[in-house]
Amino acid sequence: MSLTRVVLASRNAKKIAELRRILAVAVPQIEVVGLDEVPPYPETVEDGATFAENALLKAREAADVSGLPAIADDSGIAVDALNGMPGVLSARWAGPPKDDERNLRLVLAQVADVPDTRLGAAFVCAAALVLPSGATHVVEGRMEGSLVREPRGTNGFGYDPIFVPSGSALTSAEMSAADKDAISHRGKAFRALAGVLATTFTTA
Ligand code: IMP
Repeated sequence: MSLTRVVLASRNAKKIAELRRILAVAVPQIEVVGLDEVPPYPETVEDGATFAENALLKAREAADVSGLPAIADDSGIAVDALNGMPGVLSARWAGPPKDDERNLRLVLAQVADVPDTRLGAAFVCAAALVLPSGATHVVEGRMEGSLVREPRGTNGFGYDPIFVPSGSALTSAEMSAADKDAISHRGKAFRALAGVLATTFTTA
């Protein structure tokens, strides 16, 4: 069986590995290739107002450059007491240079006066598929939870040390990668995208 090549518009080796793991089971007819296997191009400017817009920008550019179906994701944390921010600005919330620890400290300072009962937050991930024909699909995954005021745990990245998923006693930085994948925004979005890919490439 010849495999359909799909490019994942990401330079993050962990994301590529995670998507390959999910797709290997759900869509065995697809081979996920990274950006290192397509002609080089500058990093896409992520200036969309939403996670979905940014995911589409990245996937569209990769599809244009490669001529292959392309997928991309965009994610971040939305804090209720900050009206959904940092949102699409999550990676650079404390300004340049990009630094997870400074971002997390800034969010904690911003919620310092917010009562414990109003520390709700969610990680959100949009995953987009763009076909060479120009057709697009976007799916979204969410992981609801709340913030804690003292960072805990060394797994994961970004805001994981200050986020406790609903129903868990651990922060997402205290969970194993497999336990986090099972409930995470990215895991959910990638599994939903696998369903879209399975439908797209089985009926093609
Ligand atoms: P990106 O979509 O990989 O560019 O992630 C955007 C930013 O959102 C990251 O730099 C993190 O600050 C934050 N973020 C996204 N997903 C997670 C997660 O699973 N844990 C912690 N932080 C995350």
